[in-house]
Amino acid sequence: MRVVRVLNGEDARYGLADDCTVTLISDEPFAAWEREEDVSLSQAKLLAPVVPTKIVCVGINYRTHAAEMGHKLPKDPVIFLKPSTAVNCPGCDIQYPPSTSRLDYEGELAIVMGRRARHVEPKEAAHHILGYTCANDVTARDLQAIDGQWTRAKGFDGFCPLGPWVDTDVDPMDLHIETLLNGQVVQDARTSDMVFDPYRVVSFVSGIMTLLPGDVILTGTPGGIGPMDPGDTVEVRIEGIGSLTNRVV
Ligand code: MG
Repeated sequence: MRVVRVLNGEDARYGLADDCTVTLISDEPFAAWEREEDVSLSQAKLLAPVVPTKIVCVGINYRTHAAEMGHKLPKDPVIFLKPSTAVNCPGCDIQYPPSTSRLDYEGELAIVMGRRARHVEPKEAAHHILGYTCANDVTARDLQAIDGQWTRAKGFDGFCPLGPWVDTDVDPMDLHIETLLNGQVVQDARTSDMVFDPYRVVSFVSGIMTLLPGDVILTGTPGGIGPMDPGDTVEVRIEGIGSLTNRVV
């Protein structure tokens, strides 16, 4: 299934998308729900597919990105948080903040939690996951260097585009992931290059904090990070999931 959130009149509604239709559902996808009316996918305004209470991000989780940043591979996942207010919709604009002069894309596979998870073993992780979506961990690289920690650099409103939907059936372990800037491929990797795979990440994070339905974990970016300018279009494409496109303004 592909779980979407769409604007239906004034209301944000969850639904299930196929190639042309969104079938609205009666409740959140984590609860018991029933199918309701159909709307046209092409007419629907897609929102970020979930409303997380928190976004947990893994840094330095691909060997190629560790190398380009001059970091050693970590022994445990290095995690940080983005605020829930960073969530941005597919197709919406990323605002270039005036306080930065280096705004980077980071294409990432995002895990969406489906069940509450606390102290979950890697082999049990899939049971707690709703599915996967595309994410862009937008980063003010210069502010990250100035601050020596990442809250400001990664926490601006709109710095976490998510979408276009949560695919509930895809196997996350070896997917082609690409980022395109103005149509040119700038990141090109496979999720099998991760240092800590998605199930190990869920297990590790759930040993620290309770993960709630709808919470999102960004699994890190591969090598090839780089800057965006106002007017640029950035697209994160993941095999078996889809494509997330945003413009920088
Ligand atoms: Mg990142």
